[in-house]
Amino acid sequence: MAVHVLRLGHRPTRDKRVTTHLFLAARAFGASGATYTGVKDPSLEETVNDVVLNWGGQFSIEFNDDWRGSISRWKRGGKVVHLTMYGLPLQRVIPDIRDDPSDILVVVGGKKVPGDIYGMVDWNVAVTSQPHSEVSALAVFLHELFEGREFEKVFEDSRLRVVPQERGKKVKEFSPKV
Ligand code: SAM
Repeated sequence: MAVHVLRLGHRPTRDKRVTTHLFLAARAFGASGATYTGVKDPSLEETVNDVVLNWGGQFSIEFNDDWRGSISRWKRGGKVVHLTMYGLPLQRVIPDIRDDPSDILVVVGGKKVPGDIYGMVDWNVAVTSQPHSEVSALAVFLHELFEGREFEKVFEDSRLRVVPQERGKKVKEFSPKV
């Protein structure tokens, strides 16, 4: 099952850090790519692409403001989850989502989420019914979806790899493939 993230309403001046963190969390926790709407932000894309280049694996990022079109196209073969504090509790719906073999589009909002999205998706999912952030909601959702298997994910062809240490920092460098 592949997971793609759709981030709504990116505003470069206000959201640069949070959208960057959202996409880095998506990549680290097992998603294979992300689409964002709002305002196209080349420096956001460059930051994420640089991380992919250095730390490996496949993670695509694209801007497409037509989020309704993205959801409709995805629904032809896959399922759509919308993360919202107003949805059904994650712990109640995650078994059904895990049991479905379809690829998943995970939609997260920004400042204001258009009301019609609630009726367009397969699941509206709450990661607690308290307000927090798209980054925490996505990370917890992916962790529950993959049941921790994302911790073992190998990021192929990286230039940098952490060598875990009890104390201090050790990073191994590899030559880029030609
Ligand atoms: N006031 C905004 C609204 O109307 O939804 C909240 C924006 S919140 C900072 C940004 C996004 O974080 C939300 O659209 C949602 O995707 C996610 N989020 C925040 N809290 C959540 C929760 N408890 N469960 C699931 N997703 C959450």
